[in-house]
This record gives sequence, structure tokens and C-alpha cells, in this order.
Amino acid sequence: MNKLNDINSLARLTVQELTAYQSARKIGGTGTVWLNANEAPQTPCDELSLGDAKFNRYPEPQPSKLIARYADYAGLNPTQVLATRGGDEGIELVIRTFCEPTDSIVICPPTYGMYAISAKTAGVGVIEVMQTPSFGLDLDGIAKAMDTQAVKVVFVCSPNNPTGNVLPERELTALFELCAGRAMVVLDEAYIEYAQKSYVSQLAEYPHLAIIRTLSKAFGLAGLRCGFVLANSQVIELLSKVIAPYPIAVPVVVLAEQALSPSGIAKMQQAVLQTLAEKQRLASELKTLPSVEQVFDSETNYLLVRFNDSPKVFEQLWQAGIILRHQHHNPMLENCIRITVGSVSENDALLNQLRTVLL
Ligand code: PMP
Repeated sequence: MNKLNDINSLARLTVQELTAYQSARKIGGTGTVWLNANEAPQTPCDELSLGDAKFNRYPEPQPSKLIARYADYAGLNPTQVLATRGGDEGIELVIRTFCEPTDSIVICPPTYGMYAISAKTAGVGVIEVMQTPSFGLDLDGIAKAMDTQAVKVVFVCSPNNPTGNVLPERELTALFELCAGRAMVVLDEAYIEYAQKSYVSQLAEYPHLAIIRTLSKAFGLAGLRCGFVLANSQVIELLSKVIAPYPIAVPVVVLAEQALSPSGIAKMQQAVLQTLAEKQRLASELKTLPSVEQVFDSETNYLLVRFNDSPKVFEQLWQAGIILRHQHHNPMLENCIRITVGSVSENDALLNQLRTVLL
């Protein structure tokens, strides 16, 4: 037995057997047009500055000005906000705070892949309750799962990644009611700035609700790694027991505070309007292409598109340096590709290339 195998066998069995999350960046590619990670096409970083920030001291465990600004932005009290290293850390924290290894989470595929990976790395079970054909919640299926297993957290994503749709309000309300007193509901609002309606106001009614937010999407700061959990103060206090001592690095604190200033928020809102206009243009152009079968409705900065031969389309664009996110392998998403709305010139490059695809 060689040494590497020896070390592998020391790792937890779950980790030995785990397939790592295939993030857009990990999949790689060599391209000039990156429309695979739902990032904003522009960064406000030119206007952000570290000023005279010092780095010899640890940051505040929960940076008060940053928290106050996000609380203001979300319409909450600072006690209802926890800053995290991206939305991903918030997802993991909820699982580690609420789930014993004998418990399970419920996820509703097709959805964001990190809920399942975070649960598995914590040794927590994952129950999949597939969405309905129109991308809604199977509430009976979720109720059944909760009756038969120790479910502590139900994850839903609205607007959902990768489908782009929002869940109907009556389904979310029914889910909040179903889980009351039994399980946490995590509502992932990573793309909320592109959508019509947030559920933040529901925190007043539902103590078991936690909302995931991020600066990675509409704020154009994916490189910063800053997100937030919004919940009632009792939940925030529990999560604070589990989070690492200094989760937000000083440069992140300084830049994120500026991004959340009134002018930073105004710039973000302007950029969102541009992206939404581009999304509409891209969707109507895509619908004219013979290779496109369906462009799904989206309240996000990306479009889920069904092609008549997605492996061929994906590969041809990949070869041309236009990198998209293939969804063909996901349940219910046969022949689908997720396309991030880019800048005008990126979207034009995509459309021009798609016009050359011969089927
Ligand atoms: N939730 C959803 C639905 C996402 O798509 C992402 C990013 N891909 C995240 C959470 C995590 O975002 P971040 O860690 O960059 O804040």
C-alpha cells in the first residue's frame, strides 16, 4: 500500500467517498467570455479603496458598521444579521448549528449543489424531494420526509439556482407553516436583487426562518467572499456560537462597508437594471435560434435554456472560449445550459457563436 492510500484511509469515510463540489472555477476551461458562475459583468472595485486600513490587529468578530449597513439595507435590526465568508459559509453554519449527525436536511432538486455537500461533510443525511415539473415545491413530499425522518433543516432557493424561477408565495408560506416548531427553513436569496419580492418581512412571523444573502451577485463582489444570514436574534446567537472567531478579513470589511454605502447601493441598483435589460434582450434573441427549444422565465442574472442538443452546443462554445454551465446531467434539466447574463459585448459574442451552431 503506498503512502497516499494510507492517508486516504485515515480520513472520515464520508469524506473519502465525497465528490467535491464542481464549482464553475474548478471545472475550468480556457476562455475569453465567462458566463458560467452568475457573476456580475462589472466590478465596482475601482471605486472601493482600502484607505489607511491596518492589518496587524484581528478584525471585529462581527464588524459593527458592516452589520449596521446591511441591517439598514435589509430593513432589519443589527441583531438579526450575521456576516459570513460568502453565502456558502451561512449554509454550512445552519447545518452545523441545527443538525446532529443522525439528522437530515431536505433539499428540492434541481437546486444549488452546496446544501447537499455541506450536509454530507458534516455527516448529516440529505433527503431529496424533487420539484414539480413546473419547478414548484412538492409540499406533500416534504411533509412525508419530515414525518419519516428527523429533518432539522429544509433548504429552498428563491429565485432558484439553476432554474431561475421564484417559488410561488403560497408554497413558501405553506412550507413555513409546515416546518413551524419542527425544522428550520433556509431560504436562499442569493439573487434577490434581481427579483420582485424578498421574504425578509416574514422573519417577524417565523422564528425558524433563516435567509441567505451575498455580495457576490448583484453587488459584483464575488471575489470579496462576503455574505450574510438574516434571522431572528435567537438564531443569530446560536450561529454565532459555531462561526469561526474572525470570519471576515479586514480588507473585506473595509470594502464591503463601502459597497453598502448609499452610493454603493445606488450603483448596484443601476447595474441590476442594466443586467435585467440585457437579460430581456438575450432571452428574445435566444428564442429566435433554431437550436433553442425553451428559454425559462428567470428573476435572476442568468437564463436556463433548453437546446435540442445541449452537449453539442456546450462543447462548441467551450472550444470557442465561451464558457457556460452545463446542466444536462441534473435531474429534470436534460439538454439545459445555464447562461449568465454578461455585458453587452459578452452577450453579443455568445449570440454570434450560437448562430454558427449547425444542428
Ligand atoms: N446560494 C446560491 C443559490 C448561489 O448560487 C451561490 C453562489 N453560486 C451561493 C449561495 C453562494 O454564494 P457566495 O458564497 O459567493 O456568497
